[in-house]
Amino acid sequence: MEQLTDYSDSRNKGFCIHCGSGLRHDDSNRDYVPTRGLLNPPYPENLPVVDVCRQCNSGFSSDEEYLIAFLGSVLSGSTRPDPVRLPTASDLLAHSPRLGNRIDRSRTVQGNLWGDAEVLWEPELDRIERVLVKNARGHVLYELGEPMLEQPSHVSVCPIQALTTHQVDQFENVPYGSVWPEAGSRMMQRALIVHGPGGAQEVYFDGWQDVQDGVYRYAVAQVSGGS
Ligand SMILES: [Zn+2]
Repeated sequence: MEQLTDYSDSRNKGFCIHCGSGLRHDDSNRDYVPTRGLLNPPYPENLPVVDVCRQCNSGFSSDEEYLIAFLGSVLSGSTRPDPVRLPTASDLLAHSPRLGNRIDRSRTVQGNLWGDAEVLWEPELDRIERVLVKNARGHVLYELGEPMLEQPSHVSVCPIQALTTHQVDQFENVPYGSVWPEAGSRMMQRALIVHGPGGAQEVYFDGWQDVQDGVYRYAVAQVSGGS
């Protein structure tokens, strides 16, 4: 990924974006956003990182492992993912039979309307949402230079295949309202100013950031009332 330097207000830094506690030098951890286990090795260079407190950084580990193992199981149809295609999930499940059993119990096979067998997985949504919010907070800090300490008004998670065409369209075209990102933030540096007829200027924000092609991307939008 292209690594831009953050010139946004330094007063927004110096504390953990998850618990709000002040970051002492000896208690801070550099945390990758996204969580590296969600990517495939070899990892891309220049992954975004943010500072968080040591306690929060380790506090998400079991939920992150669950999400990686669950995604790997869904993508491969069983709790024995291909070690070449999904090495992290495969490794986690090989070393944690308990996690594998837990995920296995959330798998059911049902016949569909056409009489074919269909595999259904029921995720532990609270665990997945904690990882999503953790990464979202990191992405917002990285892009906008602003901490989002309050609880999100809503979190939504769903396979893209389950979205309607209209929902996919909304998802792909990240909305951007009248609020501009903070001066010096990475997102402001990514803004494109387009000169139209009569000297009119329009500003476009480069919505999606590809972290790893076909594996992970994110978009941050700032609209009136929040991000
Ligand atoms: Zn913390």
